[in-house]
Amino acid sequence: MTVREVKVGNVVFGGDRTVLIAGPCAVEGLQMLQTVAGAARAGGADMLRGGAFKPRTSPYSFQGLGVEGYRMLDKVRREQGMPVVSEVMAVDQIEPALEYIDMFQIGARNMHNFTLLSAVGRAGVPVLLKRGFMATVEEWLMAAEYVVKEGNEQVVLCERGIRTFEPWTRATLDISSVPLVRGMGGYPVVVDPCHSSGRRDLLEPLSLAAIGAGADGLMLEVHPDPDKALSDGGQSLSVVDFEAIADKVHRLDEWIREHINSDTIER
Ligand code: PEP
Ligand code: MN
Repeated sequence: MTVREVKVGNVVFGGDRTVLIAGPCAVEGLQMLQTVAGAARAGGADMLRGGAFKPRTSPYSFQGLGVEGYRMLDKVRREQGMPVVSEVMAVDQIEPALEYIDMFQIGARNMHNFTLLSAVGRAGVPVLLKRGFMATVEEWLMAAEYVVKEGNEQVVLCERGIRTFEPWTRATLDISSVPLVRGMGGYPVVVDPCHSSGRRDLLEPLSLAAIGAGADGLMLEVHPDPDKALSDGGQSLSVVDFEAIADKVHRLDEWIREHINSDTIER
């Protein structure tokens, strides 16, 4: 199946270039967002990410800045001229997000929330649908159908790892889902090595593996000072490390597009 193109502002998923989405796990404040966005942009990022509503395991952990976080993303997207993606966790967050956010992220924990999926479908805004960490590929594709059924075909899937018996990584990156959902569903796919591994030291090899498997993009968490991040610091890149990975990713992407037969990896 041919992978359809999904456009978010000037960014094209499923086009002729890998899309890099970079930014902090959570928007912690305006200044840190501006620092990360500026550096990410200069380092080759196409889109900015940042959570304003955070689905944290503990209710006592930092929950995000809410709509105020959306407003910061809006300000920074204008300053940098780059589209933003941010999570909507509930139907009542869609309305404020419409004003400030270019692409709605549905998180792993909400992949089965069919009311929310239908509502973002009706909103008509591009959707980044993360795979539930206990979801089969078929269930993930069916979740995407809930959005599409409402007339919104602007869906990009995001593989973020699934729960297995392996304790040395936060989740297990299911690399086989990349060609599967591209082939079966025709959706562009983005890989998130950060939530897949939970480990900064694995982000480069997993990013390169994702590109090798035909991913249309990557989503990477970047923080000005990862060890002081309010969430997911251990899996976040410094700005300098992001630049190094972005450079290798783009070089590998170009090489594959030029040299590898498109019969094996359809792009
Ligand atoms: C995130 O990307 O910020 C996030 C919470 O990821 P996931 O839903 O995949 O856990
Ligand atoms: Mn995170």
